[in-house]
Amino acid sequence: MPKILKFGGTSVATAFAIKQIISIIKSSPKGTVAIFSAFAKVTDLISEAAEIALTNLVKSQELVYRIEMRSFGLIEEMISNPDYIREAEALVTIHLNELNELLESINFLKECHGSAIDSALAKGELISSAVIHFALLDSGIKSYLADSRNFMITDSNYCQANPQFNLITEKIKTELVEPMTFGDYHVAVSQGFIGRSTNLKTTTLGRGGSDFSASIIGACMAKNGYEIDSIDIYTDVDGVMSADPKLVSNARSIDRLSVNEILEMSYFGAKVLHPKTILPALEAQIPVNVMNTMNSEFLGTNIINNNVDSKSAIHSVINLKDLYIFRISSDDAKTCMNEINSLSLRIMATNSTIIYSSVIAYNGIIIAMVPDNTNLLVLHSNGKTPEPIFGCVLTGENLRIDSEIMSISKMFELGFHIPKVDYYQSPTDNSIIITSDVSLDLQRIHDELIIRSTAQ
Ligand code: ASP
Ligand code: MG
Repeated sequence: MPKILKFGGTSVATAFAIKQIISIIKSSPKGTVAIFSAFAKVTDLISEAAEIALTNLVKSQELVYRIEMRSFGLIEEMISNPDYIREAEALVTIHLNELNELLESINFLKECHGSAIDSALAKGELISSAVIHFALLDSGIKSYLADSRNFMITDSNYCQANPQFNLITEKIKTELVEPMTFGDYHVAVSQGFIGRSTNLKTTTLGRGGSDFSASIIGACMAKNGYEIDSIDIYTDVDGVMSADPKLVSNARSIDRLSVNEILEMSYFGAKVLHPKTILPALEAQIPVNVMNTMNSEFLGTNIINNNVDSKSAIHSVINLKDLYIFRISSDDAKTCMNEINSLSLRIMATNSTIIYSSVIAYNGIIIAMVPDNTNLLVLHSNGKTPEPIFGCVLTGENLRIDSEIMSISKMFELGFHIPKVDYYQSPTDNSIIITSDVSLDLQRIHDELIIRSTAQ
């Protein structure tokens, strides 16, 4: 059965990476759809160019020249047939010329409207998909290049446009489903992130939006009866990991995860797929896999709708940064509750993340991650300043604060000091927060609770 493949910016950074992609596509079933992000950092470059164009056209167009050099360099490295080189260069040149015209109009009008930004940003994906389409043809793979603006219909909320599922389902039939069903193509190549509003202006789904595109395309093709095996999101690491490999040396990839756990992991700051992006796929009963472009042996992290396990299982540990505890006490329960509510709103207004709050009788606590500590000056309750603490969160399934998890306290007692360790359980049983007055040894927690317990 065909797949939807999505390749992010880092997967399309170098000629070597693109060669990997070509071999992945070659071995995928006929009828596969491949969705591309812009070449790595190109979206950033274009958005910088649009801003600079307000004051300095020449400087902004220098950035476009950098994109041109990179695209032409990749064309030269990837493609050998002179006809395909010519066609690829012609298409890329059209997009770059339009980008330069957009920058000229921004410079002339001295204003940068959302519609102009989206038209400019879209060039990143239009260029990468064009280059890769011709590179596929050059290696003998029958590729169909589809402009996703012809089916990814959105509202006019520029830079953060909302997909119109019914219209997309209708359009995708003629733009993708029919060509792939009746044409003799091995793969359709299209763009993530970009779309078109009902009043025919180019839009984008928000930064990092190409995962969302892949999931929408899968769901809407399936609604037209196009059978899809899975949606495979290609990144440059081995799927979703048990910890941040920069903090924990033996972090390993997780085989299967429920969407609810992913939801909590992303809330706590783990770099995982945004859950919103995969919901259309999961609602259409299409499995989502997070794959590694650079490691063809890796089978992927499989994300499913339901729980993975009926037993208690810890899958990951996430470090909680910039953590503070707010203590609230009052003479009566009602005042305490009001204080908790108003403080919660004030904390959220500072772009901080509340990760736990509770009240019992006249006393309550809020634990929050406050990345900008200048906000602490205004965030106190009853005159008390928030106290800095350390913490991490365990995520998994059917988690309960049991003796195994409490063994973390033992690990501290064995150490130099005996700090107090507190545990807080999420009502979903998908996570347990651990806090302490001293910094927690993430490596050790990972070894004891994830590596050792699964080895038994
Ligand atoms: N190219 C876009 C961005 O960098 C979309 C994406 O990569 O998902 O935000
Ligand atoms: Mg990108």
